[in-house]
Amino acid sequence: MEEKIEFESFENSEVEKYFKCPYCHQKISMLLDISEPGRQFYVEDCEVCCKPIQISYSSDQGKLVDFFAQSI
Ligand SMILES: [Zn+2]
Repeated sequence: MEEKIEFESFENSEVEKYFKCPYCHQKISMLLDISEPGRQFYVEDCEVCCKPIQISYSSDQGKLVDFFAQSI
């Protein structure tokens, strides 16, 4: 019997997250890299009002565990 080893595709290592901008409350989306386990922090400008949003999220086993978007 042939043994077949399959690895999960890393093409699914990103997830699109929709959230409201803390400044203008418009719904915006962002691609999050969830291939690295643990917590990530970064600052992203809102695509509507261009203000800086502090993004914080954590992932585990290729799944998004929590997500926060707040004004700086
Ligand atoms: Zn905004």
